[in-house]
Amino acid sequence: MKKIAIIGAGVSGLTAAQLIKNKTDIVVFERESKAGGLIRCERVNGSLFHTCGGHVFNTKDQQVLDWFWQQFNKDTEFHKTDRNSVIFLPNGQQIPYPIENFAYLLEESLQKTFIQDLLTMSKTNSQPVENFKEFLQQRFGDTLYHLYFEPYNKKVWRRSLADVPIDWLDGKLPMPTVEEIIYNNFNRVAEKQFVHSSFFYEKQNGSQLIVDRLASGLDIRYNASIEQIERKQGKWLINGETFDNIIFCGNIKDIPHLVKGVDILSFTQPIEALQYHGTTAVFCEIDANPYSWIYLPDDKYEAHRIICTGNFAVSNNGHIPANRITATVEFTDEISQDAIIDNLRHIPLRPKYITLKYNQYTYPIQQKNTREMIASLKRTLSAHGFYMTGRFADWEYYNMDAAMAAAKNISEIIKS
Ligand SMILES: Cc1cc2nc3c(=O)[nH]c(=O)nc-3n(C[C@H](O)[C@H](O)[C@H](O)COP(=O)(O)OP(=O)(O)OC[C@H]3O[C@@H](n4cnc5c(N)ncnc54)[C@H](O)[C@@H]3O)c2cc1C
Repeated sequence: MKKIAIIGAGVSGLTAAQLIKNKTDIVVFERESKAGGLIRCERVNGSLFHTCGGHVFNTKDQQVLDWFWQQFNKDTEFHKTDRNSVIFLPNGQQIPYPIENFAYLLEESLQKTFIQDLLTMSKTNSQPVENFKEFLQQRFGDTLYHLYFEPYNKKVWRRSLADVPIDWLDGKLPMPTVEEIIYNNFNRVAEKQFVHSSFFYEKQNGSQLIVDRLASGLDIRYNASIEQIERKQGKWLINGETFDNIIFCGNIKDIPHLVKGVDILSFTQPIEALQYHGTTAVFCEIDANPYSWIYLPDDKYEAHRIICTGNFAVSNNGHIPANRITATVEFTDEISQDAIIDNLRHIPLRPKYITLKYNQYTYPIQQKNTREMIASLKRTLSAHGFYMTGRFADWEYYNMDAAMAAAKNISEIIKS
């Protein structure tokens, strides 16, 4: 039996491990004290804190879905919910998401400029675009751009949207045509195409349930931060142990100093140049409301989204008052606690601070040559039986289901 080391007990590493465990001898190395990576949850005073955001599950990939429901019981362990998301505009209006489907709810003057935009867009929206700003203006028009898309996305990206590349976009945003926007407004059609327009959520323990289940029965070494993986005499060496293959589900940024014995020097500079964002997830209690998540374009505060995790499962709310629920308020990058407390004073629904977690790596940023560079690195390393998969190994904007699908591809290579 081949002996395989998997680096990282997040969704990617654990999916790969489950898929190959019967055919190989596996050891999973995880630097933290428990499994989960970005989907990790903690209990704080009985309430469930998603330490990064608030993870919900769905997929359009039938193979991933079938595999997922072999691991979990859809009826007893999960709820299915329709997304009920909303945008809190600076003028106090709460407009359902996605805004372009609900333009008929805007005030009259904005409706009129939006109609002008639609007429312009019908002539221009198939022209090539260079950056995210051009994409949003071409797709949704100036009125919605200035009202929502620009202020919201500037908080998320913390830079001019003209400097945001568009290579990561595919499948990440609804891309309606002008005809669809008009039809959806005439007919009051809610958006149903996006992967999380309805979603599954765990009745107990949030997304920690997923990784705890996938971790069960595996040989996982926790508190094991792998600092060196060496190619020696046709094998891979980790902490004195020998392996035939490596499945690396950590961060590509670590590869240049981690991997020894294979010449990957030429990748050092392009990997260093990869850009990314982090997230400060602030766990709060807020006023009870009917929403799944709330987009916050208002520039009076820096937070960009509230995920109403307390609405996903009653058991997430612990011991807080009946007219309140728990939620995660998200800020891009690291924000000081003082700035957070000041921000919370201005954010709707009276958020009260409970605790926070800053994750340095949450959003990989794709540049034009990123995929090509990583494909080339993968070719070099896979020739030696070293495989990479996961959100930060692939530097891809994967949701959980895409991370599972990518791990499945690697497991098929290993098994073949
Ligand atoms: C704010 C936010 C909200 C999101 N919401 C959703 C959602 O609602 N639904 C959805 O499907 N997806 C969502 N996602 C995406 C989802 O989080 C990812 O697809 C998924 O968690 C990626 O898992 P991964 O295993 O690839 O990476 P990670 O979760 O980063 O796991 C990597 C693991 O490797 C370990 N590790 C790294 N290096 C080493 C080393 N050298 N030695 C040992 N261990 C190491 C880390 O500690 C970590 O546990 C969201 C992402 C973000 C940022």
